[in-house]
Amino acid sequence: MSEKFDLIIRNACGADGAPLAVGVRDGRIAAMGMTVAGHSAEYDARGLTLGGGLHDHHLHLLATAARMESVDLNDCRSVDAVVTRLRAGAGAPGTWVRAIGYDERVAGLPDRALLDGWLPDRPLRVQDRTGGYWFLNSVALAELGEAPLPACVDLGADGRPNGRIWRGDAWLRERIGGAPPSLSTLGQRLASWGVTGVTDAGASNGAAEAALLAGAMPQRLVIMGTEGLPAGDGHALGPVKLLLDENDLPPVEAAAARIAAARTLGRNVAAHCVTLGELVFYLEALAIAGGAKPGDRIEHGGVIAASLIGDIAAAGLTVVTQPNFIHDRGDRYRAQMDADALDDLYRLGSLMRRGVKVLGGSDAPYGDANPWVALRAATDRRTREGEVIGGGEAVSRAAALALYQVPLAVGAPADLILYDWPEYTGALGTVAMTLIDGEIVWQQ
Ligand SMILES: [Zn+2]
Repeated sequence: MSEKFDLIIRNACGADGAPLAVGVRDGRIAAMGMTVAGHSAEYDARGLTLGGGLHDHHLHLLATAARMESVDLNDCRSVDAVVTRLRAGAGAPGTWVRAIGYDERVAGLPDRALLDGWLPDRPLRVQDRTGGYWFLNSVALAELGEAPLPACVDLGADGRPNGRIWRGDAWLRERIGGAPPSLSTLGQRLASWGVTGVTDAGASNGAAEAALLAGAMPQRLVIMGTEGLPAGDGHALGPVKLLLDENDLPPVEAAAARIAAARTLGRNVAAHCVTLGELVFYLEALAIAGGAKPGDRIEHGGVIAASLIGDIAAAGLTVVTQPNFIHDRGDRYRAQMDADALDDLYRLGSLMRRGVKVLGGSDAPYGDANPWVALRAATDRRTREGEVIGGGEAVSRAAALALYQVPLAVGAPADLILYDWPEYTGALGTVAMTLIDGEIVWQQ
């Protein structure tokens, strides 16, 4: 008697190049080997590599979806280029122009008067490349309504908003309103790159965000956020997220109290640690709260001094890094930082060698959502211009993939990709087919 499957993928190979076939049944991997025989629909992989789907462990879904509907200023290096792009992207009169990726080297931090000169007649909001700031022109400010204005709204010497808003995304979304961005287009785009799972890293995620995110995309979904974020059918509950800002840190006891509160909820914690100061603060807060628990995370690990690697390993903390920033932002780091400080940036290999668990995430929309950009940078540590940063941090292709993939196992959910990642320098992987829970969600 022959076994029944829903689908057999044959003629694939594993990451090691050996022949591989899998049989899928009821959304799970039911059989795996050199060959799998049985009654089933069959798919001929024609020698492509078969592996686990990619999980992006840190991104911001609503902002990434909104970015796909935004004017992109990332490659604009002059005021002329910015103004041309904004005017070309302006829709009907009265509609908002949402621009992202503004580089402060173009004209510093703009205020309302400067933006009025760039685009006077449409409500305009421009996000800086790090995602911390929004800059608004006068028409936009007028549409936001009346006082009281929250502390995220920067005031000028005259006591009126100067157009700069710092980390005010949630408030802006509420005041501007409108339809939420389409997550299904983003889900399809991610599936085409082999992404079968995502972790939304928004620090302010609560019930409203969970309702928007759950079920909106084919990907497996983890949401981190506030203590008030509810559990639900459409998502797994991630850590409580602490958004630290080195220039505005709370008392360390207050951060420790939040960590302790997360413990009583049975939640892990994760903290935004881009700078060394933020990392040291977080480690101290964890120590006050009784120490790290397995599953607690350091988001970014943008700067990790060599002397702290042992502490991070001993605490059992997971570092969720963005190798893609070495590619996307590396040339700027090289221009702005001392050469010896570059070695501490977005460490990877030195963490793994000391036994620190490391995962990968794009930080989209602030980083490229295509995971293959990060996978390539994890192996070559090259900037856009081809310079190497922290060459000792480069890891093997297998170690890079392990930042995003769960190894295939019989009984595990059939989150699978068929892909080709050529070995020549600079190559990005391409994905021919993506399955989530055994369903084909994308096919080339
Ligand atoms: Zn982030």
